[in-house]
Amino acid sequence: MGSQGDRSILSDGDRVLLIDPKDRRYLIALRAGARFHTHMGIVSHDDLIGTPEGSTVLGSTGRRFMVVRPTLSDTVLKMPRGAQVIYPKDLGAILIEADIAPGVKTLEAGVGSGALSMALLRAGAEVVGYELREDFADRARGNVEAMLGGEAPYRLELRDVYEGIDERGLDRILLDLPEPWRVLPHAEEALRPGGILCAYLPSINQTSQLREALERSRFGMAFTLEVLHRTWHIEARSVRPDHRMVGHTGFLTTARLLVPFEGEARGIDLANGGADETPG
Ligand code: SAH
Repeated sequence: MGSQGDRSILSDGDRVLLIDPKDRRYLIALRAGARFHTHMGIVSHDDLIGTPEGSTVLGSTGRRFMVVRPTLSDTVLKMPRGAQVIYPKDLGAILIEADIAPGVKTLEAGVGSGALSMALLRAGAEVVGYELREDFADRARGNVEAMLGGEAPYRLELRDVYEGIDERGLDRILLDLPEPWRVLPHAEEALRPGGILCAYLPSINQTSQLREALERSRFGMAFTLEVLHRTWHIEARSVRPDHRMVGHTGFLTTARLLVPFEGEARGIDLANGGADETPG
């Protein structure tokens, strides 16, 4: 049984976030004997190995550096990326809107740098990813392994999701690509009834095109939102919103795969709430 204390101690091989006096953040993997060079001096990895997370150590020029293990959010913002990653604020919303939970069978396309993959896997989903570009797929795999190890239930395929989906009985389909409406016919086959489709799109034109396509599909309960996230400057008497913010990232649209209503064929009037007769 490891105590809290044991879990805090940093060891060789751990990934850590090093924070300099100007609040610049560096993501590094600890290696015995290695040294990390920054604008504010050199930090020896050996000074970090064996100390608890949250410690302050001195660099070669006497400046103070803080060390903690990175959160998922720190990792996403600092990891190597080719494609634009989904921002942490939106990752959080996707996990809730798409109702991601342990064991949920999820298809993700495209995979890009793997930021969303990491969030899904951490929440316990089983993820199959479709990605067009091999270099992106390799990077995503590397990012996922660096964070979660090689045991995560994660399979990547190099393929175009517009051409079809082989999986059946999926619980969730998450899309971060330019034309998600082209995936709807395949998603209708691949998702189980009640399954959730969630698409992330940078512009409202794309979003409205998706919503129109959803109207003509077997999906219903469509819902679109954006996440506004404003941080605050809090210091003595100066308490106000920060001057800078990420003003726009993307729109999230979710919808659920419904079973066609059989009554329609029998001529039951839906406008009447589906009631066959007026109650007496
Ligand atoms: N959500 C990712 C970023 C995805 S960027 C993250 O959080 O890191 C969009 C990705 O979709 C790119 O990598 C692009 O190559 C891929 N892509 C675009 N169209 C695709 C398609 N039709 N099938 C599969 N992948 C596609």
